[in-house]
Amino acid sequence: MANIVIFGAPGVGKGTQAKLLAEKYDLLHISTGDLLRQEVQMQTPVGQRAQAIINRGDLVGDDIVVPLLDRALRLRSTHPDPDSQIDPWDRQIHGAPHRPEGCIIDGFPRTVPQAQTLEFLFRRMKRRIDLVLAIEVSRNELVRRIHERAAISGRTDDTEEVIRHRLDLYDRQTQPVLNYYRVSGLLVSVDGSGEIPDTNTLLCRVIDSKRKKQTLNKQ
Ligand code: AMP
Repeated sequence: MANIVIFGAPGVGKGTQAKLLAEKYDLLHISTGDLLRQEVQMQTPVGQRAQAIINRGDLVGDDIVVPLLDRALRLRSTHPDPDSQIDPWDRQIHGAPHRPEGCIIDGFPRTVPQAQTLEFLFRRMKRRIDLVLAIEVSRNELVRRIHERAAISGRTDDTEEVIRHRLDLYDRQTQPVLNYYRVSGLLVSVDGSGEIPDTNTLLCRVIDSKRKKQTLNKQ
């Protein structure tokens, strides 16, 4: 363990929690939003295609986001020899490779087909997803948090209208992914209404208990 998917609506604090968990459990943090923003910032062809879509608050096509995720997963989590065959461009994007304990994926999957794709990518690496952590927060609190973030993030997709659209898309396209993982038995939901350390404590409790069970099962 552990390969974890962290899940929740825009503004729920997935990114913040994912970073804290990555540090604590030595996990590779892969955020598809960050990967895309990096491409936009560097004005790569992919970034140029993605920019307007992100600004509108729409979902970028799988033909754009899946190869980015695939490359990040393979480069940083399973590369057999950290010093060989790394394209300097990839090294610049993803940093120096090392082999962490597992990964925490934030921002993907956002649709049921993406959930199926993720399973395929893991199977191909002879790995599996161990846990899906869903952070739950009321709609009012989400809107409040996004507004707070907008004041400091400088993100072009944190405007009133775009926020509404992103939340709407989440309800229609991303929410069904929860059911997908509920059926597979991987889903654990956590109350995210408290402060950052409170939510972090709850998430760590879930991970620790999962790890304990895995260790017991191995014995
Ligand atoms: P995030 O930082 O996760 O809120 O993502 C910011 C934006 O990047 C989203 O509103 C989408 O436009 C795009 N994006 C990130 N992840 C995905 C994904 N898995 N599928 C499609 N678009 C994505």
